Order: sequence, then C-alpha cells, then structure tokens
Amino acid sequence: MWTNDLFYIILIAFICFAAWHFALLSLSGGAAAFAVGLLIAVGLGIQGLTVMGCFFISSSLLSSYKKMKKDHLEDFHEKGSTRDWAQVAANGGIAAVAALGVYFWDSVLLLLAFCISLAGANADTWASELGSLSKRPPFSINDLKRVKTGTSGAVSLQGTIAGGFGAVFIAGISTYLFQLESREFFYIAGFGFAGMCIDTIIGAFWQAGYSCRNCGKYVEKTVHCGLETTRIKGISWLRNDAVNFISCLIAAIMGIIFYSG
Ligand SMILES: [Zn+2]
Repeated sequence: MWTNDLFYIILIAFICFAAWHFALLSLSGGAAAFAVGLLIAVGLGIQGLTVMGCFFISSSLLSSYKKMKKDHLEDFHEKGSTRDWAQVAANGGIAAVAALGVYFWDSVLLLLAFCISLAGANADTWASELGSLSKRPPFSINDLKRVKTGTSGAVSLQGTIAGGFGAVFIAGISTYLFQLESREFFYIAGFGFAGMCIDTIIGAFWQAGYSCRNCGKYVEKTVHCGLETTRIKGISWLRNDAVNFISCLIAAIMGIIFYSG
C-alpha cells in the first residue's frame, strides 16, 4: 500500500516541478498545487488527479496558445500567465476540500461539488483564453457597451461557447472516470456553466476596477506605470482570484442543493 502512496507523491511532485520549470506556476503556485494534488489523491485517487490534470493542462495550453496576441492583456490584468498560490487556491481550493471530504464521508454530493467547481473553473478559463482571441470586442453586461478584450464582466459569443465546451469537457471526463449517470453529467456541465456566468456577473458589478493616474487606462491591478492606481469601481478586496473562488463555491453549493432537492 505504501508504494501506492509513494507513487502519488512522486507523481504530484513531478508534475508541480515540471509546471514550475515551464513557468506555468510560480514557486508559491507550485507549492499550493502540490498540496491541492495531495488532498485530491487522498480523497479521489488517480481519477480525481486526472480530472484536475485535464483542467490544469488544457487551461495552461490555452493560456500559452497565441500568447503573442494576448500579451497586451498582461498590461491590463493583475497577473500574467504564470499562476501563483492564490490563483491555484481560487481554482482548485474547493475541489481539494471536497475531495478530502469524500475521504471521510464518501458522499456523491461532495464528488459533485468537486466536479462542478472544476467544471466552473475550466469553463471560466476556456472562456477568457479563447474569448480574448475574438476579433469583435466583448460587451459589458453592466451597461451593454463594448469594452476592451479581457475586461472582467464582459461577454462575447465566442467566449461563452468556449466556456460551454469547457464545462462539458470536465463533465464528460468526470462522468467517465467516476462512472456516473447522465443525470450527474448534466448537473456538472450545467452548474459548471452557471459558475462561469456567476463569475461574469460578480466581475461586472462588484469586482474592483482601477484607473491609472499616469496614462488614464482602465486596468484591473493596483499598480500601473509604476504608480498606485485609483479604484473607480467595485469592492477593493474583490479581485479576480476572489471572484473565481466565490463563483466556483456558489455553483458547487447550488448544484448540491438542486441535486438533493
Ligand atoms: Zn498607466
């Protein structure tokens, strides 16, 4: 049995090291991913790790895809494509806690929470990465005006479709690996997609947005042009990672309530 545990630890450490080596994760991101991986392995074994791996690898590949075209977004967003611990926790934290819960209670509800939170995170990432390649700028659901590509709370047809595929992708893999029924498949895909929509709504109405004091650009970070920016909308602590975390959590809880109700 201990050889099995050792196998998991080495596998997870190897993946985190490789992700750090290729700058997909920062050092803190690698450490957080190692912890998330261990919790998932404890509760859901290789199947859980595979679902998480599919999310992580597909998202990282899409982030790197046409990176040149997306470089201008780095100037606008709080963080670049190298994920740090907060991003790992925002996207994988709920999945890790749910997986640990499965270890103690072996409940289908916790398994659903695991799958839905990852389907939501995946939908959101696919939507942002593929949506930001759209030729037409997205529109804000706030005032329906066209806004700069990559703005939180903005939607495009291309991004929304990509997000739908992202949720279905995780739902399909989860259903296959955990031998679930079609009912569970629709719950994971549906609430994963809902998670992305919640992310957009919170992003549009409550996420912090800033204006640069030097160049006047609208940005989503606290420093631009070497100066501290001025907050012009939203709640100061509510930035991208918090929005991701909250929307995955709401989607998972909603999924559980509807499933058991
Ligand atoms: Zn500036």
